Amino acid sequence: NTPTGLYLTDNIEARKKYRPVAPYAHKGTQGHAVIIGGSYGKIGAVCLSAKAALKSGCGLVTAYLPKCGYTIIQSYFPEAMALTNGEEYIEAISFDVTPKAIGLGPGIGQHPDTQQAIYNFLKNNHTPLVIDADALNILAQHKEWLSLLPENTILTPHPKEMERLIGSWQNDFERIAMMKAFSHAHNIILVAKDAHTMIVEGNTVFVNPTGNAALATGGTGDVLTGIITGLLAQGYPPADAAIFGVYLHGHTADIASGKTSIQAFTASDCIDNIGKSYLAIE
Ligand code: AMP
Ligand code: MG
Repeated sequence: NTPTGLYLTDNIEARKKYRPVAPYAHKGTQGHAVIIGGSYGKIGAVCLSAKAALKSGCGLVTAYLPKCGYTIIQSYFPEAMALTNGEEYIEAISFDVTPKAIGLGPGIGQHPDTQQAIYNFLKNNHTPLVIDADALNILAQHKEWLSLLPENTILTPHPKEMERLIGSWQNDFERIAMMKAFSHAHNIILVAKDAHTMIVEGNTVFVNPTGNAALATGGTGDVLTGIITGLLAQGYPPADAAIFGVYLHGHTADIASGKTSIQAFTASDCIDNIGKSYLAIE
């Protein structure tokens, strides 16, 4: 319901979107997030994403991942619940929990069985959704599946994934016009990840000012997917989850990289410092 235009997510805008936790909250009211992802050699992506979802404030997180990741994720953080399918990659997606939000894609790979599993999942899913990484690359190869996405699904492509989804552009004016058209055509929210990430919802564009080159390191995109999914699970409206999530992710990097250095900052530092960012925003 923000009027059409180009906005900057400054501190004031970010605080407007921020939702404090109710004093009588319990884990059931804080929202359950499910992160679907992982494949042999890429279990770290779903670990980072699931932990970031929990650190964003949701009440419960379940990782849906291949069996080879079962012990890994539960040793990485014991708060995680885990459901498995397939040995080394996801062969089918079906679970009997009812999350408030789902993050799909971190480390998921592109095995043909995984592609089929994603199609079957999308056909039946009505839960608010964030899509990232190889799940985006799979969507880019099957654009007709875009019609299966619930309204206001959040897509979080980096520039290469974006190009696969919407085609190539000559300059930023063209890129923004193409992103608006894509968002409008498919009723989805695009998070165009970059040094200055843009959140595109139809003709409304928010430019994010937080974050720095410390984030140019593996796994930070998985952390962002987790944060946005965790916010969605808490009941943030989708556009707010995307706008505030990107702000929080970058702000965390700004705070933490002041201590770690730009060079030594890792995606795990981003997760560990989400709390400092919340304390500065509250
Ligand atoms: P991914 O490429 O999926 O791992 O995502 C990388 C994340 O880091 C995205 O959220 C980017 O916006 C962010 N990022 C990468 N490089 C920079 C940079 N130089 N300045 C600010 N944010 C960045
Ligand atoms: Mg990524």
